Amino acid sequence: MEGMIACCGLNCSKCDAYLATQTDDNAKRQSVAKKWAEQYKADIQPEHINCDGCLADGKKFFFCLNICELRKCCQEKNNDNCAVCDEYMCDKLEKFVEMAPQVKEALEQIRNSA
Ligand code: SF4
Ligand code: SF4
Repeated sequence: MEGMIACCGLNCSKCDAYLATQTDDNAKRQSVAKKWAEQYKADIQPEHINCDGCLADGKKFFFCLNICELRKCCQEKNNDNCAVCDEYMCDKLEKFVEMAPQVKEALEQIRNSA
């Protein structure tokens, strides 16, 4: 079972924003916002930490909803994720993999099981 794999290959079911949302845990929202604000050098506040996952209906973290190029591209191409794309692995995805190497493993796993 691959869990809730986002367009980009991240596992939403292990994402701190997802976990804080599902347990409605404000202390966790605060610590995640602080961690991500430092990590991504962005203005991320506890109230931003609300997400039901990349492919789910419902709340989404603003980065994944409005900014993530991979998600936008998947939606345009009607792909559930980049693993099923005929342009795999494109430059956009390669750049993301440099920052988040774990997604390559997840995407390869999907490709190998297809
Ligand atoms: S879509 Fe939501 S749950 Fe998935 S990685 Fe992004 S913030 Fe986390
Ligand atoms: S072109 Fe790249 S970013 Fe777009 S869906 Fe395909 S692999 Fe993902």
